[in-house]
Amino acid sequence: MSTVKKSVTNWAEVMQGNYGVPTITLKSGKGLVVTDTAGKKYLDFLGGIATNVLGHAHPVIVKAVSKQIATLGHVSNFYSHPSGIALAAKLQELTGDKNARVFFCNSGAEANEAALKLSRKTGRSRIVATTGSFHGRTMGALSLTGQPSKRNPFKPLLKNVKHVTFGDITAMRKAVNKKTAMVIVEPIMGEAGVIVPPFGYLRELRDICNEQGALLVFDCVQTGIGRTGTWFGYEEEKISPDVITLAKGLGGGLPLGAMITLGSNSPQFSTGEHGTTFGGNPVAAAAGLAALEFITKANLLSSVKSYEKRLKIKLSVVKGVIQVRGRGLLIGIVLDGDYAKNLAAKLADRGILVNAANENTIRIAPALIVSKIQIDKFIMIFRQCIQEVDHG
Ligand SMILES: *Cc1c(COP(=O)(O)O)cnc(C)c1O
Repeated sequence: MSTVKKSVTNWAEVMQGNYGVPTITLKSGKGLVVTDTAGKKYLDFLGGIATNVLGHAHPVIVKAVSKQIATLGHVSNFYSHPSGIALAAKLQELTGDKNARVFFCNSGAEANEAALKLSRKTGRSRIVATTGSFHGRTMGALSLTGQPSKRNPFKPLLKNVKHVTFGDITAMRKAVNKKTAMVIVEPIMGEAGVIVPPFGYLRELRDICNEQGALLVFDCVQTGIGRTGTWFGYEEEKISPDVITLAKGLGGGLPLGAMITLGSNSPQFSTGEHGTTFGGNPVAAAAGLAALEFITKANLLSSVKSYEKRLKIKLSVVKGVIQVRGRGLLIGIVLDGDYAKNLAAKLADRGILVNAANENTIRIAPALIVSKIQIDKFIMIFRQCIQEVDHG
């Protein structure tokens, strides 16, 4: 107990300042409920940023991880192991593409780094991405990220990355040419505030990339693993990219990322061209497999879709809410003023964890196992808090 308390007080004395000093220290969790060191309980509607697809301490994850760590914890990629192959096979099945080939890594940034590196195998080096996008913080992924505040302090970044307005197909058509190696887009921009492009945008991107011979990469790090009510965030438009990147929900709460090539025309890494020590580690892979199997078995994708409807209908009539956007359980609640941070703090006070994606947008991404009672509790407390909060 005392050691936990001490580390809270001394965060700033031991940690880098990159996250700011957290005001809540969490100690345990079960399902959607987390408990802080003072014993206060919260309903977790952020899910570790769209990551804890089965909530906290889910029995199937606990069992899979415990069994795996007690059997074989880590082997490096010099050796194959059953959990890794089984997870790759499951992902291949979910893509519906026998030609799908998986590279495992540990995070979203690494998955996008792998895609970026793979795109060089086209013999081209130009890249087109979108303004406001988020693809990670490593130098390559940051070069793809379309947010000046995150980029500017770390210039120079990779050359030859052009950012065009998200959702603007004319701008994209102008930017992509025969020198373009890849176009990378989030099916829904998560970090930017859950921005959904006009329907048909993703399909038109497919057409443009086909015409110009560029790889189409969908960064599904936030929109993958059932989050939007389909397995991957782009499926509504009934097209396939050449490359998918995944992380966040993939490991069921453990660090796991993947880059998956689709179809028979995608370039492939050959022996020695890429790698990572931990990527697809047996424990993370066992957790990921358990999560995917549970989502399938419990038919969570259909409940995700029904909760989307319920949230949109009920939240859109709350006074102060001007738009409810997003898909599935990735929802942005747009407020009538720049008080999202105040509101997130008020909600935390009242025992609900959410995130202010920007000044006027609250983002929620609860575990896919959320119950109807929890959804309604969230809506009720949200309605109260938005009334009480300082709108200034
Ligand atoms: C979170 C996120 C990333 C970065 O993932 P990390 O695991 O933090 O490196 C990349 N792309 C998208 C769309 C994300 O939401």
